[in-house]
Amino acid sequence: MGVFDHVEFDNHESVHYCHDADTGLRAIVAVHSTALGPGAGGTRRWVYSNDEDALTDVLRLSRGMTYKNAVAGLTLGGGKAVILASDDAPKSPELFRAFGRFINSLSGRYVTAEDVGCSVDDMRSVREETKFVTGLPQSGNDAGGDPSPWTALGCFEGIQAAAEARLGTDSLKGLRVAVQGVGHVGFYLCKLLHEAGAELFVSDVNKEHLRITLEAVPATVVAPKELLFADVDVLAPCALGNILTSTTIPKLKAKIIAGGANNQLSTPADGMLLAERDILYAPDYVINAGGIINVAAEYFGNSSADDVRADVGRIKDRLKNIFEQAKQSGRPTNELADELARSLVAAAR
Ligand code: NAD
Repeated sequence: MGVFDHVEFDNHESVHYCHDADTGLRAIVAVHSTALGPGAGGTRRWVYSNDEDALTDVLRLSRGMTYKNAVAGLTLGGGKAVILASDDAPKSPELFRAFGRFINSLSGRYVTAEDVGCSVDDMRSVREETKFVTGLPQSGNDAGGDPSPWTALGCFEGIQAAAEARLGTDSLKGLRVAVQGVGHVGFYLCKLLHEAGAELFVSDVNKEHLRITLEAVPATVVAPKELLFADVDVLAPCALGNILTSTTIPKLKAKIIAGGANNQLSTPADGMLLAERDILYAPDYVINAGGIINVAAEYFGNSSADDVRADVGRIKDRLKNIFEQAKQSGRPTNELADELARSLVAAAR
């Protein structure tokens, strides 16, 4: 299947394929929209079964970035990159430098940062070849650096807002929270939830990540296949997307879904299935915008970590508005968020 007739093609402005023979790098960058500014979004390095799956992921993720950046009030458009991981292209500084040259060739239409499978160190290698990269270590109180703690903070405060709307209290003391994936975001989120008195249930396919998390916080480990259906108050997806489907939703026990993963819903219609079951869904790109808020502050400069903290604090207010509108109108939260995002982008065109 080509790009233009792909089911996830949504009038993306451009899609770029890259191959570097020396390192084996294979990557795709999708720029969904530059209406509000350069297409910005992280780079995901993942083992895809085939090119088709990688294309599907980058098309969906880049559109999500357009919506996320618009709703977060940033002067950034939406873009995303995927690196197709394989034994023929092992992770190395050279591979990320080759990727950096590719990003540079796009002349700023796309600005990258770290996402699943990439680290601050990887972005340092990218920075050796291009200035169109963020998420790099900063000094003092300057904004920037690893976006994950900021994403986790926005998610934590978003869970409080959801608890208030659905359960009538924003206290997380004694609340049972299942965190799917304890990588960068999930780890920091677990720490915040534990400090707030929540009871944690965690899963990860990576044993080392589980070990590091259990060293930091007490939690019950649940098998990855079972975690989605755990008997908890809150499910916080912090791994990959496409987990809320017409098959999984009828089996969920959580009353709230609020976490950092991108593209949690398999299709927009799944938002209605959640609403019909009275499960409050915090739209993923609204609740997980903390990282890109930090990335934007770093990219544009002149902001402090305190400014970022204040901006991340506004995520919960946006969610409260969406939850209230959903309550008043009976419409699913994802539909309301998408409508808001599309209107903001249309106004900028
Ligand atoms: P990460 O790679 O550090 O962590 C993801 C974790 O999920 C890994 O530990 C991985 O082993 C685990 N995992 C994968 N499949 C799993 C499964 N089926 N069950 C349980 N665990 C599984 O990535 P991250 O940076 O923490 O990002 C997590 C999610 O949040 C992604 O969807 C990402 O796109 C999204 N996100 C991240 C940021 C950020 O600041 N890092 C910002 C916005 C959104």
